Order: sequence, then C-alpha cells, then structure tokens
Amino acid sequence: MNSIALYRKWRPHTFEDIIGQQPIVRSLQNMVMANTHRHAFLFSGPRGTGKTTMARVLARALNCQSDTTRPCGQCLSCQGSQTEQYHDIIEIDAASNTGVDNVRELIERTQFHPEMGRFRIFIIDEVHRFSGNAFDALLKTLEEPPPHVIFILATTEYEKVPLTIKSRCLEFTFQLITLADMTTHLKTIAHREKIRIDPAALTMIAREATGSMRNAISLLDQIALDDRLIDVRRVEDHLGIASRDSIWNLCDTLLNGQTAEGLLIFNQEKDRGISIPHFVRSVLGHLQMLMLSVITGQIAEVYADMDVDLLACLEDQSEKTDAEAIIKIIEPWANLQPSATSIDIELAICHSSKMSFRRTPPQPSIQSPDQTRQTLKPADRKPQTHHSTTDLTLQDIDQRWDDFIDILIQRSPSGDQIMEHFSPSRITRSETADGYILSLTTNDQKLADRFQEKTRKELLSWAFSETFKCPITVNIFYVSRK
Ligand SMILES: [Zn+2]
Repeated sequence: MNSIALYRKWRPHTFEDIIGQQPIVRSLQNMVMANTHRHAFLFSGPRGTGKTTMARVLARALNCQSDTTRPCGQCLSCQGSQTEQYHDIIEIDAASNTGVDNVRELIERTQFHPEMGRFRIFIIDEVHRFSGNAFDALLKTLEEPPPHVIFILATTEYEKVPLTIKSRCLEFTFQLITLADMTTHLKTIAHREKIRIDPAALTMIAREATGSMRNAISLLDQIALDDRLIDVRRVEDHLGIASRDSIWNLCDTLLNGQTAEGLLIFNQEKDRGISIPHFVRSVLGHLQMLMLSVITGQIAEVYADMDVDLLACLEDQSEKTDAEAIIKIIEPWANLQPSATSIDIELAICHSSKMSFRRTPPQPSIQSPDQTRQTLKPADRKPQTHHSTTDLTLQDIDQRWDDFIDILIQRSPSGDQIMEHFSPSRITRSETADGYILSLTTNDQKLADRFQEKTRKELLSWAFSETFKCPITVNIFYVSRK
C-alpha cells in the first residue's frame, strides 16, 4: 500500500472530479464561466460532504487564467496553487483562530494584491467558531471588501453563524453523499488502487460512512492494509459490529415469533463485544428494508446495488409477514433511544416477536442458536425449486429472454445492451444441485473475460434463476468470429 492516505490522494482538483453535490457544482461552474461570482460565499452542511474541497476547487477556478475549463491545472495560477509559495489562496481554521485579533490579522492581509491569480481568496473553515467580536470585525470587511478579495466561509453549524454574516454571503447547502454515488466512487478507487474487495463489502463500507466521503475512503484505507481480499466479514471485524448473518437470523426469529432464539442470538453477539448502538441501527435498517419490500414489492428498485444474498433474504422474509405485522414488528425498534442498553434491546426483541404474523405454521421445536444459524445461512436462501415435469430448453430461454432482461436491469441498468453480445448455447441439468447449468457465448473476448468475474456471473445466474424460478448457474464462453 502507498504511504499517502487514500483520502488525500483522491481529493478532487476540478469540478468534474467532485462526487455528489451536482446542483452546487453546476451553479458555481456557471458563475465562474460567466464571471458573475460574488465576493462572499457560505458553504454549510454535515462533515465530510466536501465543503472545503469545493471551496479549494472554486478558489482555484476563480484564479485560473484559462478561458475554458477552470481550474485548468496548466496556467501559472493553477500550477502555483500546488506550491508552498502561492499566497493567493489562504486557508484559515476558525476553530483554532477564534479571537478578534486573528480576524484583524486576516483583514490586514486582505490589503495585499494577488501575486499570480486574479483574486486573493480567503477560505475560512468552521467559521461558526469565531467569537462575537471576531464576527463583528469580519462583518466590516464583508460589507465592503476590496475588489480583489473573495471570502469562502464553511460551517457544519449553520445556526451558529450570525444573520448579518449570512446576509452578505451567497449560500450553498451541502447534502450527504448518496449511497449510490459513494459506492460508485469507492469502486473506482478500489479498482485503480488494485484493492481486492467484494461488492457487498464495498456497499457495507459506503453504508457505514453515513454520507461522508471522507469517512468512506478512510475506512477503505484502514481495512486495505494488505493484499487479502476484503469481504463483508473483514469489514465487520474491523468495525466491531454484528455479522450480517446474525442480524438476518435475528429478524427471522422476530418474524417467526421465536423470542427465546432471538434473545440468544443477541446475547451471543453481545458477548463478542459488538457495538450496541450499531446493532440497533442494523436491525432497524434491515426491518426498514423489509417493510419497504413488503409494502412496495419493489425492493431492488428502491435500493441500488443490493447484493444477491440480501435480495434473496428479503424476498424470503417478505413471504413470512405482511404490511400490518411488519409495522408492528418494527415499532419497538424505532422507539429505542440512542442510549439504549442491552435490557432495552432484549425488551424490544420480546415485544417485537409477539407481533409476528404467521402465514406459515410456527416452527415445531426450539432450536439452539447454532442450529438457527445453520438453517438460515445465506447459501440456503436460494430461490424456490421449480417443480416442473419438463426440462428447460434453449427455446424456453429464448422465449423468456425479455423477461430475463427486465429482471437483470433492476440490478444492472446497462444489462440489456451488454446482453446483446451474448447468446445461449447449451443448457443441461446440474448433476449436484437441483437446477440447471446454462452456457452463454460471446465473440467479444474482452467481454467474455470481464464476465469470468464471480460477481458478474452470479448476477446473471440470479437473474436467470429469478426468471425461471429455479436455480440456474451461468457459464461464459468466448467463441471467435468465423
Ligand atoms: Zn488555470
């Protein structure tokens, strides 16, 4: 692994590199190109959403001497801004410079003209930390700044910035980065940095980062310490959180009304020393997905990038409940306070499992948690076997190709275009499992290589299995053009 932190290495240098915040990027870009910018900006929003990064890119763009793509990275100012000798962009952390004297010193520096760029730009981070007097001193300059001065203020606590300051600024509110944007960006980084990571582990990192790109990249950096494949288990261990299987198993016990088993699963995880608040969030998060799945019936469309195992688990659990019951099951969890202790969680398990609605008869006997785990492991969550008397043929595959594409594009939007390059060539009964093996051929060698990857093959297998409601394993072959 390289020695520069990934987060610093992947810090955006142009507007195009910025992840998320697209409305803000567009407004600022237009403003810079049209030269209609203001002399003071206020960026507010949660930590890790890219305020300081955007401020730096904006500052470099305003100072860039190019007429086209700003910042160009080529001109004297852009090149200079990468060096220590560049004084036209000045960053101040208000958290450690809170007093009026600091602001006076800053204002003195506004008298100097820019050296390389068009403006002297002051980026003030965490501006809400200024004292009252410091804000008063800043206000005077903000009211009538010298024409060559621009202020970009950033804050995580918008409410603490005085109204008088806000009214002098052009304001932009930053949003949390979406899970989809975050996953896509992490995927790019992992690929370029040659970090071997399972797609499910990648999604887990994105989810754990709770909307902060900085958190997500740092987390990836910490886990990718060696060349070993990063899977979900490694992420769970690193974070000290309950395993995904145990969360799913617990939810199963709630749906089945198996209070004792639920309590045992929780206590096992507790003994492993997992984070309790995280456990609550995970159970609640899973039940929430299940509720959406039950009510909308379109879970794959609501959550992008959902892996096959999770999708199968939700489909399986949706069968065990209905809208009315799942709302009652989720309630005790939704009512838990952030400070909930283990007794609160045990009570939630008791209340929640009493609310279950049984479409199928209850399980006959009490199982030990080990057995529960075994009976519920993801490998067993394969689609229901299709009890047909006739075998599937290539003709069946051809006839239902469009249905297969409809299912595939739920998970892979460009799936229809890609599948134009494949054709089914052979289907046989699987000798080991109750299902089929389907061979697809393509004369595009690169595509064939790409689809040798396990996750891609699994995606196709999943979509075929869903279409025909029986397990179908896909193999990919390359055939050269005649
Ligand atoms: Zn430039």
